[in-house]
Amino acid sequence: MSAPAKPPRKEPLPPAERNHRRMRKWFHLFFFLIFLALPFLNLMRFDIPRQRFYLAGVELWISEFAIIFFALMFLMFLVAASAILYGRIYCSYACPQMIFSEWALVVKAWGQKLAQKGSKDPNTRKIIAGVIFYAVLALASVFLSFVFTSYFVEPKDLFHRLLRLDLVTVGGITGATVTLLTFLDLAFLRQTFCTTVCPYGYIQGMLQDKETLLVSYQDPTQACIDCKKCVRVCEMGIDIRNGAYQIECVHCGDCIDACEDVLRRLGHPGLIQYAWGEKAHNVQGEKKESWLRRIGLRDGKRFVILLVLLFYAIGLGTALSLRHPVLAYIASDRTTLYTVEPDGFVVNKVRLKLANRSSKPTSVRFWVEGLPGGQLALPANPVSLQAGQVFEQTVDLKVKPWPEAQDVVQIRMWAQAEGASPEATDLTFLMPPRKQP
Ligand code: SF4
Ligand code: SF4
Repeated sequence: MSAPAKPPRKEPLPPAERNHRRMRKWFHLFFFLIFLALPFLNLMRFDIPRQRFYLAGVELWISEFAIIFFALMFLMFLVAASAILYGRIYCSYACPQMIFSEWALVVKAWGQKLAQKGSKDPNTRKIIAGVIFYAVLALASVFLSFVFTSYFVEPKDLFHRLLRLDLVTVGGITGATVTLLTFLDLAFLRQTFCTTVCPYGYIQGMLQDKETLLVSYQDPTQACIDCKKCVRVCEMGIDIRNGAYQIECVHCGDCIDACEDVLRRLGHPGLIQYAWGEKAHNVQGEKKESWLRRIGLRDGKRFVILLVLLFYAIGLGTALSLRHPVLAYIASDRTTLYTVEPDGFVVNKVRLKLANRSSKPTSVRFWVEGLPGGQLALPANPVSLQAGQVFEQTVDLKVKPWPEAQDVVQIRMWAQAEGASPEATDLTFLMPPRKQP
């Protein structure tokens, strides 16, 4: 009897078009630069000592609650929307914790490589690798905690504290504590943080639904050779073959690359893919689907989420565009109705409040309409204001009575900041009652 014919050997397939790990590293670089730029360019920063919120270069005061509200709501919805549409893509592509954790592992491997070149003795190698690893982490921790603390304290001020090795003031102690925590995190915790401490990971798990982008294992042809490469490369320590909805999975795609690498050599495409939801619609394979579905807008719920996001973005944009960098508040002070000076001038008191909410010095000029010869007793007009300065004063507004003057005169007071349009406030000016003939 002749032996059964062997199945034809398959030719290896060319390497996969997309390498997710390489792509992710480019995203890491991009988001790391954003992480640096946000506090240093005042794109987003909450200055606690000065009680200021910086957004897109605009300095917002705590009193500007509407803008801060819209900004926070927009950010919250952005994060939620990204989790509903694209799963834990934020965790694996953008989160600083993930970026620095993976970087720490690279440093560790690099230290071990250097140690191998430096000595043949295993104990000495271990010591050299450890010294390199912890020394680099210590320097990086100082830098990273400086950037992180800059989100809450003015970077220049922080830098001076760092130069003085300030361990006395609240700012200095906070900086030192953050440095220590960053070091411990990078040295010992890394991705364990994502599965144990990070609340956002759990929240994202709750936000996912049947159409969210996932990393999914599908093996209809029984092609898995159980090489476990997908398990070995997973930094979260899980086996994707046990299901797509594992809470630890950050949807990084490393297991996709690993499986493609192994199986393509044997003539099979990989068994793990990015796919939409529990029905596992392949992201690349469904060419017949509309482009809206292919970018993640797969049902009405997602359109509503996008509309809410748009609503907050428009609200934020409108609030920012209507904002006046210099605030001028004018009101009558009625603690005394009026006084008459020995030289015949009638005096009313006016309360002025100015706030320069911009980052440049400016000046504000005042003038009065409807009060012939009226004088505003300001020490200087225009009033100069430094960046962030508040000016508050009650001043005399005086005028010599004129024949047609009523007991109550309607006046209009103007304030104009440098380079801005004048703003009017309507007031009344009280005169002494005229004697009856
Ligand atoms: S299972 Fe795959 S996608 Fe999920 S965390 Fe592990 S390597 Fe990344
Ligand atoms: S890498 Fe692919 S073939 Fe290997 S165990 Fe994982 S799923 Fe199976």
